[in-house]
Amino acid sequence: MSLELEYPVTLPDGQTFKQPSGLFINNEYIKSVAGKTLDSINPSTGEINGSVYAAEKEDVDIAVAAAKKALPIWKKKFTGEDRGILLNKIADAFVKNRELLGAIEAWDSGKNKETNAVFDIDICVQTFRYYAGWADKICGKLIQNDPLKLAYTIHEPLGVVGQIIPWNYPLAMAAWKLAPALAAGNTVVLKTSEITPLSLLYFAQTFKDVGFPAGVVNILSGYGATAGSAMCVHPDIAKIAFTGSTATGKLISKMASDTMKLVTLECGGKSPLIIREDADLEQAVKWAAVGIMSNQGQICTSTSRIYVHEKIYETFLTQFAQHVEQEYKQGTMFDQGCVVGPQVSKQQRDKVFNYIEIGKAEGARVVLGGEKNEQGEFAKGYYIKPTIFADVQPNMRIVKEEIFGPVVSVGKFSSDDEAITLANDTSYGLGSAIFTKDLEKAHKMAGEIEAGMVWINSSNDSDARIPFGGVKMSGVGRELGEYGLNMYTQAKAVHVNLGLKL
Ligand code: NAD
Repeated sequence: MSLELEYPVTLPDGQTFKQPSGLFINNEYIKSVAGKTLDSINPSTGEINGSVYAAEKEDVDIAVAAAKKALPIWKKKFTGEDRGILLNKIADAFVKNRELLGAIEAWDSGKNKETNAVFDIDICVQTFRYYAGWADKICGKLIQNDPLKLAYTIHEPLGVVGQIIPWNYPLAMAAWKLAPALAAGNTVVLKTSEITPLSLLYFAQTFKDVGFPAGVVNILSGYGATAGSAMCVHPDIAKIAFTGSTATGKLISKMASDTMKLVTLECGGKSPLIIREDADLEQAVKWAAVGIMSNQGQICTSTSRIYVHEKIYETFLTQFAQHVEQEYKQGTMFDQGCVVGPQVSKQQRDKVFNYIEIGKAEGARVVLGGEKNEQGEFAKGYYIKPTIFADVQPNMRIVKEEIFGPVVSVGKFSSDDEAITLANDTSYGLGSAIFTKDLEKAHKMAGEIEAGMVWINSSNDSDARIPFGGVKMSGVGRELGEYGLNMYTQAKAVHVNLGLKL
């Protein structure tokens, strides 16, 4: 099949644009070598939004060669200040195109445009601005010991970096990876998720427009098993940065080990949210809802296990269910005032619904939802009603396994020790939250929770300046902040003899 390299699109909100379909390599959209394509499906209708060329091994080779050729230019001919100026121009472009990019993102992924997708564009702006500021502040150390020896480190870029991102935040996850890698002087081959290829592919041309040299940023659409795995074994890729499921993360780690690549993994989670008896209950209810219902529950850090002190357990459940019912209305991506859109794909909808059936069979009490939404305008889409399970037990699958949908399990505890034991009873360790007015207790409990991140009296309020990542089966390494930048540089030690004669 021969696909045009660009085709006109009119979005449901009336905005128009030209969608590129090619692989973005060397600042150009090109057809894939074998000419294979993949379809992007609209989550609210099941119809095809558009098709794009799908990269395979040969295309990965071409993209990596382009990034390798661009490396000396980007890391040596561009100063840190030059790189920072370009990263700021990318941030400006996100600001300028917020409405259109938000709409494309919504259309492709199922996020409501006004209450969700446009905020992803704000994340991109914040991330690129933050790392633009770092680009001219990357420095090594002078190591002082012997007066006859000068020793120092240079923080160098790693080289060509391979980045593999998921479908739940197609633009924001790309920003989290591209901005620090580019600030540090690396060149990049990034593969989008086969489920949501459109927004970043459209945005890719901006790198050329603002002045990035050809080959510095290469964006591939493609499947994980073909394009993704070709990146993981490519000898000229120095590092793989991955966000996605724990199962794929393990596979990537194994594949990358043959060529001794550095690997950072942001994987799954089953994050706990603890509500102590002394918590501000109104705030706890609101944040708990944000923590699991935002983005249809498709957030790796969703606080999907809630543990409430037994004395306020039933009150919390009543208020929580009322709040979710009132504030988390279901609607299509372009419905005004709605929050909960369709799940990203039929496969994800079916997976989430299967967990709901499992929860019921395990004996958990359904407090809210507990079904698909197939009425009226929702008939063709992939909708799940926001679902609250109560009275859950630690051995239930809905408590142990990541559901990745708007489905939350609520259980109770009688002491702080029990709350911590329940919170840590998981193979994951990504996010966590504690609600209490006793800040001394809160800090102690934060130290005891096995997780990469702890929110005290909030949930999921991540920030480009603060490190993000997990322990246990939730991943390796950190993104964001200075910690995230350090994952894209390596120290070279230089020893200078100042006169020591042998
Ligand atoms: P996924 O693991 O199926 O896919 C993620 C990416 O990996 C996609 O680009 C995919 O094409 C690629 N991929 C798949 N198989 C591959 C292979 N064999 N080799 C190389 N690449 C491969 O995950 P998903 O379905 O896109 O996302 C859902 C999962 O991701 C959830 O479990 C969620 O917890 C996790 N997730 C984690 C984070 C985080 O920051 N920790 C963020 C978003 C999603």
